[in-house]
Amino acid sequence: MHSPPKLHSLSNMISLLGIGIDANSSHMMGTAEGPAAIRRALHSGSGNSSAESSVEVISHIEDLGDLPVANEKGSVVDADLITSAVAVQLAAGRQVISLGGDHSVTYPILRAFGAVHDQLTVVHIDAHPDLYDDLDGNPLSHASPFARALEDGCMTRLVQLGIRTATPHQRTQGERWNVTMVAPRELASFDMSGLEGPIYLSIDLDGLDPSVAPGVSHHEPGGLTFREALDIIDALPGPLVGADVVELNPAQDLVGMTAMVGAKLVKEIAAAMLVRR
Ligand code: MN
Ligand code: MN
Repeated sequence: MHSPPKLHSLSNMISLLGIGIDANSSHMMGTAEGPAAIRRALHSGSGNSSAESSVEVISHIEDLGDLPVANEKGSVVDADLITSAVAVQLAAGRQVISLGGDHSVTYPILRAFGAVHDQLTVVHIDAHPDLYDDLDGNPLSHASPFARALEDGCMTRLVQLGIRTATPHQRTQGERWNVTMVAPRELASFDMSGLEGPIYLSIDLDGLDPSVAPGVSHHEPGGLTFREALDIIDALPGPLVGADVVELNPAQDLVGMTAMVGAKLVKEIAAAMLVRR
């Protein structure tokens, strides 16, 4: 029998932050209810508080609740609120897991991380590259967070996994910033060990196949299995300084299964943060 991996610091706490914004979605509202649904699944009596590695995670997570966002399309005020809230946690030495909300939340989050890390690799699981220069005239759209973050120099490298909807425009955008785009069919041969830390992980639940994560606004068949997503978390060379789980749309979910997928990702991310700090 294996014993649980040793934690670097048992007093280490991870901050959990809910950001219920769906006003920057391009197709369907509903992701504003995502944080509450993931919390319910996280504390559901159907599971326990440990990760698969037996690391106890729930007692190492401090839930800060939801940010008081206005949830208005293109809101610079909301974006600034997110950046400053995350910056406060980073200044306190915390690792941060954020719950979306749509994917627009990741740009203001990454502004805070970019301000404290000279070198940062962002690993991004998604069906979509989210690199649009402009979509619907909203620079803060959930289709553009990584374009904005690259323009601002928030990261040194962006690696996108599970991408299966890249348009010629988004390919051009990717080439402009040397983005590594890995399609599902290329995933098995992509070597994660070469990634340089620290690492930030952004998981758009539509990167998973809709058969495992139907509770999203954009169903894009041909995605990752849940086990492939866990294997990615396991393979991150670390340290894992921050992460988000976004785009859960409870109105689209079936029997709460995508909320449970999101909650389990939070647990496995938290374990990776605690062990590979
Ligand atoms: Mn996305
Ligand atoms: Mn997506």
